[in-house]
Amino acid sequence: MKIDSNKSIRIISNFLTPESYNKTAFLDNHILETDENGKITEFHSAPRLFDRSGTIDLRKFIISPALIDTHAHVPQIEAIGKHEPNLLSWLNKHIYTVEQSFNDLNYAKQIADKFFTLARSAGTSTIVAYSSGDINPTHEIFKSALKHRVRIVAGNVLMDQNVPQSLIGNPMSILTGSMELCEQWNKYSNKADTEKDYNDGRNESTQKQNSIKDSYYAFTPRFAISCSEGLLQETAKLAKKYDAYIQTHLNESQLEIKDAIKNHPYAKTYTEIYQKSDLLGPKTLLAHCIHNTDEELQIIKDTESKIVHCPDSNLFLGSGRFQIEKIMDFDITIGLGSDVGAGTSLNMFRIMRSMLYMQLAHQKKVDINIPYYLATLGNAKVLGLQDMIGSIEVGKQAELLLIGIKNIDFGLKNNEASKDILSKLIFTEDYSMQLVN
Ligand SMILES: [Zn+2]
Repeated sequence: MKIDSNKSIRIISNFLTPESYNKTAFLDNHILETDENGKITEFHSAPRLFDRSGTIDLRKFIISPALIDTHAHVPQIEAIGKHEPNLLSWLNKHIYTVEQSFNDLNYAKQIADKFFTLARSAGTSTIVAYSSGDINPTHEIFKSALKHRVRIVAGNVLMDQNVPQSLIGNPMSILTGSMELCEQWNKYSNKADTEKDYNDGRNESTQKQNSIKDSYYAFTPRFAISCSEGLLQETAKLAKKYDAYIQTHLNESQLEIKDAIKNHPYAKTYTEIYQKSDLLGPKTLLAHCIHNTDEELQIIKDTESKIVHCPDSNLFLGSGRFQIEKIMDFDITIGLGSDVGAGTSLNMFRIMRSMLYMQLAHQKKVDINIPYYLATLGNAKVLGLQDMIGSIEVGKQAELLLIGIKNIDFGLKNNEASKDILSKLIFTEDYSMQLVN
């Protein structure tokens, strides 16, 4: 079943949708209707008597909004599970080589296809990703995402120091390349401009299939260690000029923090490096933020920057505990990311499990609704796309995850039912998923 095939649809099913950090609604026997563009026009409880003609009966499923992943690295899909529990040595031993390989265009196409096939099968319709440092393979990421009908926010990784020489191009030509990528793909809508940007020989029907998908550009300085002050400053200027996203890493491990400040001695803290380069703001996504001072959290809050929590990666690399209670107290917008390849899966339910386990290992209890909220509406807010995606509501896009799950007690209501369903999705693998968009 497809939703945007130029015709409206009407389905009856049971729905799970986030309402707030601590509340997930379970709405059984509801009717959802879309217009021909896949936008939800009706969503309400089914009356006892209604005209069933043209209504698709999906009551054996539970339908969730599609999941969102706000931090992953496409080339690193090939490095999942390379055990090395220390960020800097893991990068040196396993990661720079796979990113180097990604610069081969044919290889990049294969890897991008694999990545988005896996993302779709994990129920993810929107993903924020890092490419390698090169420009041409990054075009392949955008093309592949559109082909697989996954909304993408991505950029080539910017680096000009402290990484193998083979990964550093000419800084000026890399920035020019990033600018070209941004001009081509930022806020790109295939519907708006099929001819100009997406003419790579696809036939008309394939182009039509892709008609609702869109893409956004993120300027992507890897982290402060691998970027000079000049590169960070130029990046900030370009992101402002194009009103694009910025994504980078912050305060992931103690050794990384030391090294970052050593490379940028004008700053007292890691966060101050980005602040002084003017990189922080509402469209800046900061991955990790494990080891923060209160002063740094205040800067993040004041600049309305977003934090992307990547628990599976933090457990894999032994980076430390995410201080969720403190960050929530600061009222900073938080999202959830897989961080593949330090994260071991693109399945966001597995990432939710890691989030809960990380806190439980430190005797901290986190409400089971919170990780689900972060991977749906929370991540939509991180991207400023909460009016379009992240929950099932009239006016949003119908990007639906059909879940086949056994042993659900449909007699349970509301909170009880949603907790029962979420705990099965997060702690077991005894269910099927199909992304419909
Ligand atoms: Zn990362």
